[in-house]
Amino acid sequence: MIGAQLRQELAAIVGAEHLLGPERSYEHDASLSRGVRATPDAVVRPGTTEQVAQVVRACSRHGVPVVPRGGGTGFAGGAVATSGGVVLALERMTGVRSFDPLLWRMEAEAGLTTRDVQRLARENGLLFPPDPGAAEESQIGGNVATNAGGPHALKYGPTGAWVTGVEAVLASGEVVRFGGPYRKDVSGYDLRGLMVGSEGTLGVITAVRLRFVPRPEAALPVVALYPGAAEGAAAVQRVLGSGIVAAALDYLDAATVAAAGAAMPVHSAHGFALLAELDGSAEEVQRQRAALLAALEPHANSIHFPEPAELWRWREGVSGAVAAQRGGKLSEDVVVPVEHLAEAVDGVVEIGRRHGLPACSWGHAGDGNLHATFMIDPDDLAEVARAEEAAGEVFAMTDRLGGSVSGEHGIGVLKREHVGRRWSEHEHALQAAVKHAFDPQNIMNPQKKLRA
Ligand SMILES: Cc1cc2nc3c(=O)[nH]c(=O)nc-3n(C[C@H](O)[C@H](O)[C@H](O)COP(=O)(O)OP(=O)(O)OC[C@H]3O[C@@H](n4cnc5c(N)ncnc54)[C@H](O)[C@@H]3O)c2cc1C
Repeated sequence: MIGAQLRQELAAIVGAEHLLGPERSYEHDASLSRGVRATPDAVVRPGTTEQVAQVVRACSRHGVPVVPRGGGTGFAGGAVATSGGVVLALERMTGVRSFDPLLWRMEAEAGLTTRDVQRLARENGLLFPPDPGAAEESQIGGNVATNAGGPHALKYGPTGAWVTGVEAVLASGEVVRFGGPYRKDVSGYDLRGLMVGSEGTLGVITAVRLRFVPRPEAALPVVALYPGAAEGAAAVQRVLGSGIVAAALDYLDAATVAAAGAAMPVHSAHGFALLAELDGSAEEVQRQRAALLAALEPHANSIHFPEPAELWRWREGVSGAVAAQRGGKLSEDVVVPVEHLAEAVDGVVEIGRRHGLPACSWGHAGDGNLHATFMIDPDDLAEVARAEEAAGEVFAMTDRLGGSVSGEHGIGVLKREHVGRRWSEHEHALQAAVKHAFDPQNIMNPQKKLRA
């Protein structure tokens, strides 16, 4: 519990109406089904960077943890106050500080939603390519703090590739600005890059400078269906080797297609599906079409050409459709070198079989990123425990294949025992030294991101 003195100080900084007590909606994020829930001592909703700085300074003086919170859509429990303390919610900081469409750039406050960034770009003939799945609720600050990805990260990279500058409040309460409204910067170490993906453990991101590109004129999605993972993964390697830069190259294994494929905008969906998309000028897309089809066609059972908007809208619902099969699911977003995709996809199903759990995976095939999933009855505690064991085996398989335990959802509190499984002690120590340099008191989202 925080003391009355700190409570008074926080109310004086943000106004009593923006200091909330233990609020249910701030007790969890999208990892609730994994049992991550904690009541914060208080929730503050600052409206300016200066208020954020004062809140952090006050918490630092009292030695109280600060847990930055964006839209609360994270899958790793990162925005949950599992060590107590104050949840610092950025939801009031939604301003656009500057927008220069002709120079392809914007400075936005951290609380602006992902969808609003995408919309503003689109309305001005531009593209903000990061496309994580919860764009209506997630915030740009949360996307930067998790380095969120999505289907189009294959061509365009994850969120961090679109961030040229970060304004943040450090644990000391100091306001820092790393990078700026320029596209290249090699002076000093890349502290901007360190903030990207730092999951609230190095500071509170209060604003970000983003870059855009002109919106591609045309997009051509293609769905190819294969008998199994081996044939589909071979097609992924042919696409990568063909010299075409596909904008997206996602997959759904046969069990995912069985669970979610009924509404897929193609005639009839069975087997392993690849979702490839080309984008660019209309002429460029047409030119690349033949090469893409030549790479996809060998061993394909069928090829389809859905409408782009329809396909990606359906794709956003895949996770929910899989969860609906048995009422719940346990998913881990591991990543492996792309040449091991088929082995990993089949490995997940085999691990599920050994644990008596229906299993499936889908994800970003070109990036080697799998959402390895066990479908569970969430009320059956023995089953939930078996799924946790199965997830442990997925991590072990990922190690064996030379991959990593998280490709995009982050480590948070859920995966900290598994982070850096292949790092040396020295590599772990370097990571801890970075944390210590930014946050010697360990008040910034403690017990998250790094190994205990
Ligand atoms: C339906 C659904 C689909 C999803 N699809 C994807 C996907 O395709 N790709 C993907 O990568 N993720 C996906 N996610 C996960 C999630 O949306 C992303 O991780 C997102 O970037 C989290 O943003 P948020 O604003 O909700 O952050 P939160 O959940 O609030 O926080 C996430 C982490 O970032 C920190 N944080 C948040 N804001 C700040 C800030 N301003 N300063 C410092 N630290 C901060 C928190 O402390 C926490 O550690 C999905 C989630 C859902 C529910």
